[in-house]
Amino acid sequence: MTPTVPFDRDGKFHGHLRLPYSRDDSAWGHVMIPICVVRNGDGPTALVTGGNHGDEYEGPIAVTEFAHSVNPADVSGRVILIPGLNAPALAAGRRTSPIDGGNMNRSFPGDPRGTVTQKIAAWVVNTLLPMADIVLDFHSGGRTLDFLPFAASHVLPDRAQDAACAAAARAFGAPWTVRMLEIDDSGMFDGAAERAGKVFVTTELGGAGMARPKTVAIARRGLRNVLIHGDILAGEIAAAETRSLDMPDDACFTFAETAGMMEPLVPLGAEVAEGQELALVWPIEATGRDPAPLRAGRAGLLTARHVPGLIQPGDCAAVVAVPV
Ligand code: CA
Repeated sequence: MTPTVPFDRDGKFHGHLRLPYSRDDSAWGHVMIPICVVRNGDGPTALVTGGNHGDEYEGPIAVTEFAHSVNPADVSGRVILIPGLNAPALAAGRRTSPIDGGNMNRSFPGDPRGTVTQKIAAWVVNTLLPMADIVLDFHSGGRTLDFLPFAASHVLPDRAQDAACAAAARAFGAPWTVRMLEIDDSGMFDGAAERAGKVFVTTELGGAGMARPKTVAIARRGLRNVLIHGDILAGEIAAAETRSLDMPDDACFTFAETAGMMEPLVPLGAEVAEGQELALVWPIEATGRDPAPLRAGRAGLLTARHVPGLIQPGDCAAVVAVPV
């Protein structure tokens, strides 16, 4: 991987991470991953990434806009901005890379001799993470999920790191702030950054394979708020009301067991009771059959739902989180 920008010079530098990718239509070709480095003297470093999944747009838009508009004089330390971490996936409008099928957030810690996606992950772990104090990795629901807009931190064994991550997630100022117990973080950027001792914040800001005015505004404000919180960007945190949600266990998730047309029965953000029907799955092959109900595994707020009109067995149909 060859960066075309310096990491240790003052100023704002737009360039690329250039990753060799030899193929039929480009013998000595490269994957070009846009990057912007903003540095102003010594101080902490923030690594801000969008497009970890290529069909989630709030992060890439907010990171691109911030790179475009930030004045280096307002920075103390350094901000490393990568709007599309899985650049081939973002260019294709897909969750995973069209080159190798790689799901970036299942590819960490990566492999410098692996596929394109594994090489990107390895370079992040080996080169970018050691530079960073704070990591903000933007996600949204992509083409198959839609979320209430939230920033999140994970429950971590180190209490000081746990508190620092939770404080940064609250500072983001999304309408909801979530504490997540990750049962299996294998392959995720989150776990790689957390095990490296970083302050790590992630988000889920809408989804359905598109950006919305409200969720993009939340992403832009949250990016600035986290940098101000980290003493990297000048200014005042834009105060915003945020409510806390917990995702404590597997009962939060409802998975489809039949295929068909999904009829949602409650909107995102609705309060639901344990066992309540959240949606019906109607068969498409014939009339005269009962729909299959999709029920809440616990009481709480409907925090995410499956998006396309058709649903398959195994699809995540709904997420119910618990207000704190
Ligand atoms: Ca995602």
